[in-house]
Formats: sequence, C-alpha cells, structure tokens
Amino acid sequence: MLINCDLHSHSGYAGGVGQISLDNLEVAMQKKGIDVFGTGDCLHPEWREFLKGNLVEREDGLFSKKGNDARFMLQTEVIFTAAVGAGRKSVHTVLLFPSFDSVERTCKILEGMGVKNTIGRPFIKCADRVDVSNKLSKILDIDDKIEAIPAHVMTPQGVYGSSNPIDKMKHFYGSATERISAVETGLSADPEILSLIPELDDFSLISNSDAHSAALNRMGREFTTVEVGSVSYGNVIDAIRKNRIARTAEFNPTEGRFFLTGHRAKKKGHGDAYCVFSPKHTPKGNKCPICGKKLTVGVLERALQLKDVQGGTREFGELSPSTKDFVRMVPLVEVIAYSLGVVSVVSAKVVALYDKVVDVFGNEAQIWFEKDEVIRKKLASAEVSEIVIDNIIKVKNGDFSFSPAGFDGTYGKLVVGAKEDVFNVNIISGQGTGQKRLF
Ligand SMILES: [Zn+2]
Ligand SMILES: [Zn+2]
Repeated sequence: MLINCDLHSHSGYAGGVGQISLDNLEVAMQKKGIDVFGTGDCLHPEWREFLKGNLVEREDGLFSKKGNDARFMLQTEVIFTAAVGAGRKSVHTVLLFPSFDSVERTCKILEGMGVKNTIGRPFIKCADRVDVSNKLSKILDIDDKIEAIPAHVMTPQGVYGSSNPIDKMKHFYGSATERISAVETGLSADPEILSLIPELDDFSLISNSDAHSAALNRMGREFTTVEVGSVSYGNVIDAIRKNRIARTAEFNPTEGRFFLTGHRAKKKGHGDAYCVFSPKHTPKGNKCPICGKKLTVGVLERALQLKDVQGGTREFGELSPSTKDFVRMVPLVEVIAYSLGVVSVVSAKVVALYDKVVDVFGNEAQIWFEKDEVIRKKLASAEVSEIVIDNIIKVKNGDFSFSPAGFDGTYGKLVVGAKEDVFNVNIISGQGTGQKRLF
C-alpha cells in the first residue's frame, strides 16, 4: 500500500512559531491527504508530555489520538553546530523515534551533553566533525530504529548550505555519515537539483513540509509517498532506508526562499531595492551591487558548485538513477486564491472553494495524481469555475513559474501559465521599485 508521510514539522515550542494543536492538524491532514505526520519538537519537555498524555500507540511506533485515524510519528529537528573552516556551521537534522522511551533516553543523553532543551529545536554544540559523529552516534545507538535525516540540505542551514560551505556530507557528520540513509530535499530543491550532486546517488530523497502551523498552504506542502506492506513505524523507516519511495511531492524549487542568489529588499543598506541572479550572472566576488556585502548564495548555484567539486557529470535536468517519481505542486489554496484574484489564502471565499474542490476528490494529494480529464469532468460537474479548473490543471502539468524565483529568504511569486528561464535572471532593482506583487 502507498501512504503519504510528512515527517518534519514544528510545534508551538519552536522559536517564533504560532500555536499548533493536534485537533487542527488532524483536520488539515484529512484535507491534505497526509496519512502520517511528524509531531515536531518531541524532545521539548512540555510538548513531549502533552503528546504522551494525548496519543496512544496504534501500530508499532505510530500514534494517534484515541479513536482517531490520523497517525503521528515522534519527530524533532535538532541543530548540530561545529567548527568548519574559519567559522562555525549549523546543520539542521531531523530525528525520528520509534517510542516515547527512545525519546526520553535521548533527552537524558542530551542533558548529559549540556544541551538546553527549552526551545523546540535544541542546539547540539560540537567541537568538530569527530564530535558531531560521536554525538549523533550516541543518539542512534539508543535504538536502531531511530533515524537521522539531514534537513533541507541545500538551504543556508542545511548540510550543503552556503554558510561555511563544505564539499561532502562527511565533512560535517564525519563517520556517522554511514548511518544516514536519506536526505530531505527541502522547499528550495527537488530530485532534479539534487541529481547534480554525485554523492547523493547513494541516498533516498524524501520531502517534508517543515510546517510551523496547520495552515493548508503549510502542512503537507511537500510529502513523501512510501510503499509499505502495512502501516507501522518500522515499515516506514525501512522504506526510507531501502529507498522504497514511491514518489515525492515537491514545491517547485523556484518558489523556495533560497533558490537564486541575491539580496532581498529591506536588507541593511537596501531600502526597497533588491537584486537576484542566476549562477552565470552572479557578480564577481559574489559582491552585492547594492550594499557591497556578500550575496546569499542560492540553491542552484550551490548545487552547481557541488557538482564541480565532486566531479559530477550529469547536466541539469538529467536525473540520478536513484531518484523516484516526483510531482511539483503549488498548495491548492494558493492556486485558488490566485485564480480568484484574492491575496489571502485564508479568506472565507478561498477556504469555501478549497473545501468544495477537496470534497470532490477526498483529499488534496489525490488531485495532483489524477488525470486531467478526470479533474475537469469532476470539477465541472461540481460547478467549479473554468478558470480555477484550468489553473489547477496547468499547475499539475508544470505550466507555471515563480517570477522572480525565491532568493535570500523571499518566496517566489506564482505566475500560472508562464515560464521563467531560471538560468537567465539578472535583476538589480532601482531604489523604490520594490518587488512586484503578482497576486
Ligand atoms: Zn530546519
Ligand atoms: Zn546587498
């Protein structure tokens, strides 16, 4: 059977995050078509106790609220930091746990390492990569079903990110790299981008939302479909380890906040001006033409650098043999808001139409894997307007782009029915022009 998993989220305890409740998550999981959802922040003492008091074990290692079907997996993100080159590098890493017992033992070990556990996403301070390897190994030694997955690998806070860049994964995780089976593509990358990096041929690629709320454009905005004999923690982990990934549902990486290189508006010394570049247009020395500081290097440029340094031979667009099927989606609420010319994805009009569309298919995930003619027929008989139907089908077929693409922490702006050449962006906006809002 195929199940949709979204195994990276954050609770209300992670810094700067809104409240999140299991009830809201369950409603959103049902609408989005997510079968198994990561709890986020399961090491945090209060959230952990809340989960323990409200969830019951259903199958080996998966949990749900009493009497409900939505399955939760115990999950957190941690940040390993270590000296790399002249500075320190922080690398976000997802941890998945098979039991509350293994979570509690991990908390004890972290306490012993002097790790403060007051924010949802604890920092594990390490001297160097040998120390990272030792500390990660100590956690993995607790239970052989605990899984560590480098998170959003291409963003500045990911293992391949542009801050204190490294050439290979083992230059950060040391010998514990051998105990890592999968990496998370993150919003700014997908199997096409990661195929540029040769060492990833040996890893499964998974995709998660990294949601900080149950909002319909956040949770389930990326997910991984795995093939399992039956639903259980062990089976999901086994599928991830053995690359029995059926498909991933991805953001279009150009929407992700770090796709191209640049500096966003409102940065110090920028006012409303921003700049954004494709790799071949990045200014010499990576120097911002507006403020003179170093530009934030985007995912595309980093992936091409890693290809060169690792001796990669595949061109952009050629997929690694280890990659699986994937689709690029835009959250349906965003497609609907765009079609109605409404800015807010939580407006009553958008939500009502979203519910109507989702009711027709059972859940949102279903739509992205449905045939065009089926979508058209079913939505037309539910009296959904032509423009909404057209835009859903266009997005499903990849006939959309983000212009400009995301850069330096700014999401890309959706344009349905237009293509942007991401290899040919060279924008230095004038003072006061600001970024054009397209919807
Ligand atoms: Zn993260
Ligand atoms: Zn600048």
